[in-house]
Amino acid sequence: MQQSPTLEDELKRAHRALRLLSASNRTLLRASDETTLLHDVCRIAVEVGGYALSWIGYTEQDNEAGILPVAYYGNDDAFQKAVDRSKVIGEHHQCAITTAIQTGTMQLGQPLFASPSFKLPKEPPQRSCQSAIALPLRVDAEVIGALAIYAPEADSFNDDEVRLLDELASDLSFGIATIRLRKAHERANARNHHLAYYDALTNLPNRNYLSELLRDTLDEASKKGRQLALMLLDLNYLREINESYGHGTGDQILVQVAQKLGELVGEESIVARFGGDDFIILCEDAGQERLAELAKHLLAAIRQPFSVNNRIISIGGSIGIALYPHDAANPGDLLSRADLAMAKVKESGNGYCFYQSEMTEQLSRKLELAHRLESALSADLLQLFYQPKVELYAGQIVGAEALLRWNDPVLGWVSPEEFIAVAEERGLMTEIGEWVLRTACQHLTQWKQQGVKCYGRMAINVSPRQLEDPYYVERVVRVLEETGVSPACIELELTESCLMKDPERMFAILAELRWLGFSIALDDFGTGYSSLAYLKRFPIDTLKIDQAFVRNMLNDNNDRAIIATILAMAQQLGLQTVAEGVETEDQRHALLHLGCVIAQGYYFCRPQPAAEYTEMRLTRSSMLAEPFARAA
Ligand code: C2E
Ligand code: MG
Ligand code: MG
Repeated sequence: MQQSPTLEDELKRAHRALRLLSASNRTLLRASDETTLLHDVCRIAVEVGGYALSWIGYTEQDNEAGILPVAYYGNDDAFQKAVDRSKVIGEHHQCAITTAIQTGTMQLGQPLFASPSFKLPKEPPQRSCQSAIALPLRVDAEVIGALAIYAPEADSFNDDEVRLLDELASDLSFGIATIRLRKAHERANARNHHLAYYDALTNLPNRNYLSELLRDTLDEASKKGRQLALMLLDLNYLREINESYGHGTGDQILVQVAQKLGELVGEESIVARFGGDDFIILCEDAGQERLAELAKHLLAAIRQPFSVNNRIISIGGSIGIALYPHDAANPGDLLSRADLAMAKVKESGNGYCFYQSEMTEQLSRKLELAHRLESALSADLLQLFYQPKVELYAGQIVGAEALLRWNDPVLGWVSPEEFIAVAEERGLMTEIGEWVLRTACQHLTQWKQQGVKCYGRMAINVSPRQLEDPYYVERVVRVLEETGVSPACIELELTESCLMKDPERMFAILAELRWLGFSIALDDFGTGYSSLAYLKRFPIDTLKIDQAFVRNMLNDNNDRAIIATILAMAQQLGLQTVAEGVETEDQRHALLHLGCVIAQGYYFCRPQPAAEYTEMRLTRSSMLAEPFARAA
């Protein structure tokens, strides 16, 4: 028979619970990890509280009746082994802990292994544990498990002790909840950090992170006297791929490109996604030759066809390279210089290009031009000059070409080639092109009123950008209607590149213009890449032989042969020809000899402002100088 505990025993028990509570509170405050916290509380229960054994079981999420032991401390190896073996204690083990979990209330009773269904392998260890208390652990009002403490004495745990241990269980619950919340925050922060710093698609550092990486890497390089190279890789055709095959396909190509880049550049290098179809590679400056090799290598890898959704897709790229500290001393300048170098590559097609200081000068000139051109346009400071097209034999004017001029109050005369390129980049060509057509038509109307005989058509140059406008034809027609000029008076000059970009669409536009009464000339012929098959198919009236061939035709047999071939081909196709850039009587003579009928050039007349051109037309019947003039 058991003796009832003395007052001294009672005090001792309450005191050990109190010691346990204060020690475990200190642990709770320091705890950063749930497993360690659970283990520490069990250990303190035994070491500080003087209990025989303590363990914590969690409910199994997918097994309502199961309890998973998650922490254990005590001098009872047999229990440890038994728990390890069974791992999950099912409902058939009715004892204090299972009841505490099921009912959500504190239980006093038998230790787990005193349960009749709990089979221990060898000698039962009940000797060291006579009584048990099980206290439910709650997180967010849900019972997640229980803390079991076993005492060596039977009928241990008086009221004071129970109250203190209950407090311990609530503190432990609070500790667990706090750690879980903190972990959840940490995970969310980590996820947010990843989203903020890495590109979700390619998993490469994104633009934000890149600027940090660049700053830190450049700082470190500066301290160590290291030199770096920044490559800006721009992919071709990604927009077209997105438009034709969908963004999913474009995304997969980006992922594959990112993988390839990661594999090809060394571990030391940084690969980042700069946004859109641009990637950055930051690597050691191993000298121009080695960098050029790397750039070629990367471009070759990207040129390899990609296989996406059972499609084989080819995509190329361009690389601009800027060196630190040679080209720029800070991340922003380094990036913009690589960008400038890349823009240079794009002008000439694919490949790579190292930054050169002239590029910065060119850029600032371009920026100034763009700015001043916009003001010139709104202040009506552009002008049209006219150059006659001349019949070579008698020198009669058989048409004219309108040529744009800009005399800026600050920059002076700016060549049309230079400012038209800027206007094209800035999207100003639609507006400028319309101004040119309107002004030329207004002059034609004035000449008619003044009695100036306007034989032949007025040639108007058309930029490829104008033709991208879906309303191009409507615009042209509206201007002619407003100025009262017939399409029969106008020839539109296009370049070969205009035709080849989207031949089907161009075919439709030209056919419509032709049907309306315009004639179509192919400007600078021989310098582009027209397919002869297209040439035959396109509704074209005139080929303008590029002045480069005329320039050298007297001393370069090849150029003369090219002119002869163009003339023969044009005759076969029923097209007219105009030779551009005739500057001497010998050239006129040679062209006549080859069978060319019409030409333009300084030999006959430089482009003239409208007033001078009017005057000339009123006073001269032939554009040939006196000794060569012939009767028409
Ligand atoms: P283009 O259409 O081939 O115009 C002929 C160019 O050759 C003109 O240069 C003209 O001044 C020049 N030229 C004429 N005869 C001779 C000659 O005997 N020797 C030499 N060396 N050059 C001669 P310009 O006016 O500087 O125009 C250059 C280019 O700018 C034009 O080439 C055309 O592509 C473009 N352009 C000019 N005006 C316009 C325009 O209104 N709209 C568009 N889109 N482009 C224009
Ligand atoms: Mg032209
Ligand atoms: Mg030309």
